[in-house]
Amino acid sequence: MDFSYHRAFDVPDDDAAFESAATRLLPDGESRVWNNALMELGGVACEGTPACDTAECPWRRWCHAYETGDFTAPDVPEQPDFEGSRRQFRGRVVGTLQQHGPLTLDDLGPRVRVDYAPDGTYGREWLRDLLEDLEADGLVAVEETDESVVTKLSPE
Ligand code: SF4
Repeated sequence: MDFSYHRAFDVPDDDAAFESAATRLLPDGESRVWNNALMELGGVACEGTPACDTAECPWRRWCHAYETGDFTAPDVPEQPDFEGSRRQFRGRVVGTLQQHGPLTLDDLGPRVRVDYAPDGTYGREWLRDLLEDLEADGLVAVEETDESVVTKLSPE
């Protein structure tokens, strides 16, 4: 359960902080459901090596670790081996759209990677490929008009 708290909510590696976060996050009268949900999340998706995409974790849109690409946790101090930059960039796209709302490709790109250049290696083509994956997973929506391509989070 600690993995989930730490990764999903960015809770520091500290017993008092965990306890305080748990108290704050627990919905009134729903502690059993909440605890079961977190245990399920930990068991199905958020283990030592998290299976964010393959397990289709429902928390991806809000998850701190998924956004930053840092999947270390108190009992997993080393970054899990499988972690790749593509996953990190996927998380950044979701986090950026969450923070800024709908953006065109060229407004989104530089916020996702500093070396974004519209016609470069990491430009529109690279970004559209990433967005296609996210759209297939139901996380973002891409709308094309004659004048621009607008990206946004998928409606819930
Ligand atoms: S998105 Fe990944 S890291 Fe975040 S809670 Fe889900 S499985 Fe864990």
